Amino acid sequence: MARKRATVEPSGFTILVVDDKEEILTSTRLLLEKEGHRILTASNGEEALALFHPDQVHLVIVDYFMPEMSGVVVQAIRQRDADVQILLQTGYSGEKPPRKMLRSLDIQGYHDKSEGPERLLLWVDVALKEAVHLKQVKETEQLKTQLLIKEHFLTNVSHEMRTPLSIILGYSEILLDDTSSPLPAQARQQIERIQRQADNLRFLVNNFLDLAKIGAETMTVALQAVCLSDLQGEVEELMRFLLVDKAVAFVWQVSAALPAVQADRQKLLVILRNFLSNAAKFTERGEVQVMAALAGSGEEVEIKVQDSGIGIAPEYHELIFELFRQVDSSSTRHFGGTGIGLALARKLADLMGGEIAVESAPGMGSTFTLKLKVAPVAVLPASASVLHTA
Ligand code: ADP
Repeated sequence: MARKRATVEPSGFTILVVDDKEEILTSTRLLLEKEGHRILTASNGEEALALFHPDQVHLVIVDYFMPEMSGVVVQAIRQRDADVQILLQTGYSGEKPPRKMLRSLDIQGYHDKSEGPERLLLWVDVALKEAVHLKQVKETEQLKTQLLIKEHFLTNVSHEMRTPLSIILGYSEILLDDTSSPLPAQARQQIERIQRQADNLRFLVNNFLDLAKIGAETMTVALQAVCLSDLQGEVEELMRFLLVDKAVAFVWQVSAALPAVQADRQKLLVILRNFLSNAAKFTERGEVQVMAALAGSGEEVEIKVQDSGIGIAPEYHELIFELFRQVDSSSTRHFGGTGIGLALARKLADLMGGEIAVESAPGMGSTFTLKLKVAPVAVLPASASVLHTA
C-alpha cells in the first residue's frame, strides 16, 4: 500500500532555485517543499530567466559558482523585479562572495552549503519576511497614489460642478432680491425651488469632496472656540429651506450661556447639516430640535439633533455610520440618499476629537448626539487657530 504523504499547509511563497548540480537542486527543493513553499528549479541561466516572472517569484536562490550566474543572470532578474529577494549559495570550501559585489547586485545575503539545511531555512525565512514587508510597503504606496488620484479627480469634478451651481444660486438670489421688479408669487416659488435643489446638490458635492480628502489624508481641521449660539441664524435658515413643504416645526434650544466648544466651525456645520437634512428627510410630522448641554464633568458639550421621524431599529445603529450603508427597508429606500453623510460626520467628529452616537427606535424618532470638548478658557483668536492634519 502506498504511504500517504503528510500534507503541508501551502505558505503562498514561490522560490526559484538555480544550480547546475542536480543533487543540490533536488535536496534544496525537498527541504523547502517541506516548509510549504512552491519550488521552481533551473539548471542554467536561460532556464532561470524563462521561469522567472516578477511578482510571482518571491525569492531566488542562485549558485555562486555557476558560470555567468552571479553576474549577468542576477542582473537580468534584478532588472525585471527591483524588489525580489536574491540569495547566493556558495560551495563547501568557505568562499565568500565579496561584499562589494553583493551590494552592487543588491543581493540580500549568501548561504554557505557547508553550514547545513537549518541555516539555509533561516536565511529563507528572513528573506521571505522581507519580501512580505516590501510587498506591503509597495501596496501602501500604490493605495496612497490611487487615493491621491481619486482626490484629485473628485476635487476637479467638484470644482467644475460648484461653479455652475454657484452661478445658478447667485442668479436665483438676484431674481428673488430684486425689489425694483418683484416676481409674481408663482415664479418666486419656482425660483425658490430651483435654489433649494441647487443648494442641496452643492451640499452633496461638498460631502463627496470632504470624503475624498479624508481618504487621501489631506483633510485639515482648524480648531477654534466656536460659540454654538452664533450658528443659530445659519441653522434656522437651512431648516426653513429643508422643511419648506412639511408640517414639521424646528426648535433651537441652545442656551447662549453655554461655553464655546473646540471645533472647526465649517466642519461642525457640515456635521449638523448632515444630521439636520436626515432629520428633515425622515420626519413627516412633529418637530426637529437642536439642543445642547454640558456633559461629563463640564468638560464636554453634547449637541443633540432630535426628530420625531420614522426612527431606526437597534440593529442598524452602527451600520448606518459605515460608508454607503443605509437602513435596508423599502420605506427608507423611498427617501433616497447616498449613504455617505453619517460616515463623513463621524470622521469629521474624530478629527475634531469628538464623538457621535445615536439613540433611536422604529416609530419613536431619532436623536443624533455630537460630543465635543469645551474650548480652553484662554481662547485663541480665530486667525491663530491650531492646524491638525488628518
Ligand atoms: P443618506 O441619508 O444619504 O442615506 P446617511 O449616511 O446620512 O446617508 O444616513 C445613512 C442612513 O441612516 C439613512 O439612509 C437612513 O437609513 C438612516 N438615517 C440617518 N438619519 C436618520 C434619521 N434621522 N431617521 C431615520 N433614519 C435615519
